[in-house]
Amino acid sequence: MEVAKTIKSVRKLVKAACAKGKKIGFVPTMGALHIGHVSLIEAAVQQTDFVVVSIFVNPTQFGPTEDFEKYPRPFDDDLEICRKKGIAVVFAPTPEDIYPSENLTWVNVEKLTEPLCGQFRPGHFRGVTTVCAKLFNIVAPDIAFFGQKDAQQAIVIKRMVADLNMPLEIVICPTIREPDGLAVSSRNQYLTEKQRKDATLIYKSLQKCREMIEAGVTDTQEIIGQIRKILNQIPSAKIEYVSIVNAETLENLDQAAGKVLAAVAVKIGSTRLIDNILVDAD
Ligand code: AMP
Repeated sequence: MEVAKTIKSVRKLVKAACAKGKKIGFVPTMGALHIGHVSLIEAAVQQTDFVVVSIFVNPTQFGPTEDFEKYPRPFDDDLEICRKKGIAVVFAPTPEDIYPSENLTWVNVEKLTEPLCGQFRPGHFRGVTTVCAKLFNIVAPDIAFFGQKDAQQAIVIKRMVADLNMPLEIVICPTIREPDGLAVSSRNQYLTEKQRKDATLIYKSLQKCREMIEAGVTDTQEIIGQIRKILNQIPSAKIEYVSIVNAETLENLDQAAGKVLAAVAVKIGSTRLIDNILVDAD
């Protein structure tokens, strides 16, 4: 496995693999790799011939009061995971490599970035789409792999690729959960033991939502009320949003119908957690 620290070196390695006719897979991450990331890596290893994993904590997607500085960076452990999984290249640039001077060119996906997390993290998606556009230009993959855990991000990236005719395919992989249902996240390690236990209510609230829709309840306000009731059992929780939206357009639904995305964001203490489920309401 190669560790490429510069844009020039990763381009050279990918170019050589392309010349041998290899299909390039790409998994962009911020590191602190866990079984969620590993599931994307395994999909990439299965579906392509030469896999690049990027490890880059992207400053432009963090707000000024968010956890950029304290975001975990266990780089050696991450390399070990990638080595074991048969990755060809880990690309680990510095912020100065990716943003050598004031960045004046931004990619902004409209509408889809407004609801859900967009309301609470101004500028976040602009940072995500811009860094992904840069990384796609640097790595030039045939397929890039993203997680359903970040449902809005996945939809936004897919739309950017379609709207800008970027020559790659986006594959979305299912959310990986802990045995008790909590979606695996690098941020779960911020939780105290008690908060970690309470956090299981997030997925429980989404399961309740699934049950209600499957039982024929369509009034989304009624469903949202039940989700909130469960989340409010977490003493230190501050609910950012509970939304039931069209899974493609992310528009709010009064009545659950078609492919529905139920998404929540909750702050437990100072740790912000998100989760979602897809439900077929027909
Ligand atoms: P991050 O390092 O948090 O930027 O995540 C990198 C990629 O891993 C993103 O595409 C995430 O959606 C995906 N990911 C993070 N957690 C999970 C999970 N629990 N299950 C599946 N994919 C995940």
